[in-house]
Amino acid sequence: MNLLPFGKLAPHRPRTFVPQSLDLGDWSHIKSQFDELERRAPQIKSAPELEKWLLDWSELSAALDEESSRRYIAMTCHTDNADAEKAYLHFVEHVEPQLKPRQFALEQIYVAHPQTPHLPAARFEVFNRDVKNHVALFRPENVALETEDAKLCQQYQKLIGAQTVTFRGEEKTLIQMGRYLEEPDRALRQEAWELVAQRRLQDVEKCEEIFDELVRLRAQIAKNAGFENYRDFMFRKMGRFDYTPGDCEKFHDAIEKEIMPAVREIQTDRQRQLKLEKLRPWDLAVDPHNRAPLKPFAEVSEMVARTQKIFNQLDAELASGFRQMQDLKLLDLDNRKGKAPGGYQSTLSEARVPFIFMNAIGVQRDVETILHEAGHAFHAQATRDEDLYAYRGAPIEFCEVASMSMELLGNEFLEEFYSTAEANRARKTHLEGIIGFFPWMAVVDGFQHWIHTHAGHTRAERKTAYLELMDRFGGDVDWSGYEEVRAHSWHRQLHIFLYPFYYVEYGIAQLGALQVWANSRRDKVKALADYKKSLKLGGSRPLPELFSAAGCKFQFDAATIKPLIQLARTELKKL
Ligand SMILES: [Zn+2]
Repeated sequence: MNLLPFGKLAPHRPRTFVPQSLDLGDWSHIKSQFDELERRAPQIKSAPELEKWLLDWSELSAALDEESSRRYIAMTCHTDNADAEKAYLHFVEHVEPQLKPRQFALEQIYVAHPQTPHLPAARFEVFNRDVKNHVALFRPENVALETEDAKLCQQYQKLIGAQTVTFRGEEKTLIQMGRYLEEPDRALRQEAWELVAQRRLQDVEKCEEIFDELVRLRAQIAKNAGFENYRDFMFRKMGRFDYTPGDCEKFHDAIEKEIMPAVREIQTDRQRQLKLEKLRPWDLAVDPHNRAPLKPFAEVSEMVARTQKIFNQLDAELASGFRQMQDLKLLDLDNRKGKAPGGYQSTLSEARVPFIFMNAIGVQRDVETILHEAGHAFHAQATRDEDLYAYRGAPIEFCEVASMSMELLGNEFLEEFYSTAEANRARKTHLEGIIGFFPWMAVVDGFQHWIHTHAGHTRAERKTAYLELMDRFGGDVDWSGYEEVRAHSWHRQLHIFLYPFYYVEYGIAQLGALQVWANSRRDKVKALADYKKSLKLGGSRPLPELFSAAGCKFQFDAATIKPLIQLARTELKKL
């Protein structure tokens, strides 16, 4: 039984290294390929030979990546199928742990190889920088600490995952409770919000304990790697060669100066429309005019057809890319029983085609998601002819430019789904969401900068630091009576626990997307041509060059932000 939505997909390039018969789910088979690459390395006597070796390694990595993706896709499309689950778990438990040290060994061989300096410098600049960085940061004594870190993260996930409340006689997860914040009945919203807040407060102590331990561990990991603090270590580990902690701090300041006035204006409008004295934390998600939710489509086939029409109007090449995904059945979009929740875009790395997974139910959020994931898919299609596996993926700061730009560019044609009035309502919500994201990003990022440069801080000091950020970026929301809830509201932001420092990327990318959008207002044809050109670069160039190819500045200062927010505010006034 084929559990994949798509049929047989041929590799984009015929294999020249990995045998066709190789069982990619069997470690003993895979191992022989790594052995072979290790065996060959010392015999390589020229740069072209080394390049061929890299391409063979790329072929193996892509084949393994596709195997992993196929098993993941089959499992998420059929959560009720025991074979799919078994196949996926087998790969995660018996292949991946073996894979990592062998990939790392090849990286070490490559970095030390006498032919590496003779490879074409510009072509390998980014690859060499990343591989050298990865090898240089490795410390054997950190392996055990990282395992401990992962265990603490798991404890946090378990703690948060177990949080439920009883609402009107029914047990509900806190995520399920989210929809009551959109209810027009204010008393009901408050009741739901308070219930969730009280439940979270019960775990404050445990969250703080886990976090204290994480901070201590992470400081030690950084020290072992020769860094003064965990922030500086993480900037290097995440390959942030093109921006500094100082740039991020400047970003926070610019958000305070240029974006907070827009946030306050949106909040004041909301408060007036809802006819309230003050905005309380439970007044932020409801439609300010008490309208019923938008209904963009009834059937998923309708969503796909209308999205296709949006791309037809936007660009012929992108339109044919989306058409191809339908022809090859690379979309699994409907919500049905036996499907994992959420949405993602995955790439089948050998066939070099994208796949989109979603659980569409007929709300505006689905339209945003399909445009977003299609942007990622266009990125994968654009890099098809790149043979170095590592360069077919870009840094996340730019991947999200590809997807977030597509939300903004596609929004121009929302009339495919709605009347003009409804389309404008969707555009307004979207733009307000973009503006409102920046301050929270600044809180999450700024807080982590503080935490990991103040090792040995007390819980009281941490609280003060967080509240200072909330005062700067919280806007005009009245939390009185809920001071403790506010002071610990970061506990629910899982990135702070699980993916430290991974958050500012979304802010950086959103600035890129807003610039692509601003460019398209001036010259639509050129903006799209630049967008497509930048996608084609994949990860082969550093971030500032990717941004510049897309027609954007790689800067997060007030001068860059000011005109973008002005455009968004002008646009909002028209809606
Ligand atoms: Zn994305």
